[in-house]
Amino acid sequence: MPQAAAKDKTKAKKAKESGDPHRARRLGFRAAMFKDMHQQLINTMEIQHLTHRLTRLKGKEGSAVEEIVSLQPRIAELKGSRRSAPPRLVVRGNRVTLQIPFLAPDGPLLKKALGGKKYKTKAGVDRGLRVPVVLSVMKGKKYRELLLKVERLVKKRELLRKQAYGLQSVTDRKKNNWERKRSGLSYPGHVLKKDRHIAALWGKVRRLDREIARVVASRTVWFCEEHKVKTLFFEDLRSFQGHAGSKDLSYNLSSNLWGKIIDTVRYMRESLGHSKYSVWTVNPRYTSQTCHVCGERGKRVEDEISTSERKGGEYFYCAKCDEHFHADVNAARNIIHVHPGPSTVAGRTA
Ligand SMILES: [Zn+2]
Repeated sequence: MPQAAAKDKTKAKKAKESGDPHRARRLGFRAAMFKDMHQQLINTMEIQHLTHRLTRLKGKEGSAVEEIVSLQPRIAELKGSRRSAPPRLVVRGNRVTLQIPFLAPDGPLLKKALGGKKYKTKAGVDRGLRVPVVLSVMKGKKYRELLLKVERLVKKRELLRKQAYGLQSVTDRKKNNWERKRSGLSYPGHVLKKDRHIAALWGKVRRLDREIARVVASRTVWFCEEHKVKTLFFEDLRSFQGHAGSKDLSYNLSSNLWGKIIDTVRYMRESLGHSKYSVWTVNPRYTSQTCHVCGERGKRVEDEISTSERKGGEYFYCAKCDEHFHADVNAARNIIHVHPGPSTVAGRTA
């Protein structure tokens, strides 16, 4: 960890020299985080060592009372400054993992790494049709957009899912046949092997999901840092009904994945010192049909000049303003304006 911190520090310096302050800040924060994690780990290890030593000394007859007396205050001091729970070994099936619960950086560290900043802009995130994730930041009357494409990862995921489903149906058929002929007997080796293969495929899909969520969330969060975003609004994952024409576009993110992305963003923003009320989910109803400028109902059109309606078209056209917008961008901007009602649960709006 100290090595990783040092590496990030040099990278941050280089980024600063080459005129990329945002990257420098990002790397600086990561370096500080690694250093903090290292400190937490060392602290925890020392506590374990000392308490172990203490119990051994206490067990022995007539051993050094002086050492016991000197150990106790040190342990108390370490425990007082401890910020994470002790590490533990978890056994799941035939896999053993060591879990080290680290705490996110706290106030002073954040201030040192990021500096004091005033956050006051708002941002909306839409699960797009052409682009999987569209982030829009509102600065006064102006908007800044970030279109996130994780095509490569999403395509890989789709492929794996298809493989898993295909294999599942083949295996199901084989199992059926086997049961009809030799009911009561356990399945033969080649069928069981297929089962393991399917499980492995789903494992890969889950790992990819985690990677996609992490990539999208990290880019979202740092874009928000660049533009000093205070509150972030996400399209609610429960109210998704599928846009017109979404079937033939494979990179529409599933609800499961969308939920993971929101959770990851929430976690990352909290570790950057934002309040837990800085991420909200809103009902996206009508956000894809209304104009974000005047609120009139518009229509979907084929391209940036056409004005005749086409369901599932890439662009949005508002007749009142006589303007074209990218459909996903328009929806993301609308999401910013779906205001949370007064009687809502924290972090969620009706
Ligand atoms: Zn309009």
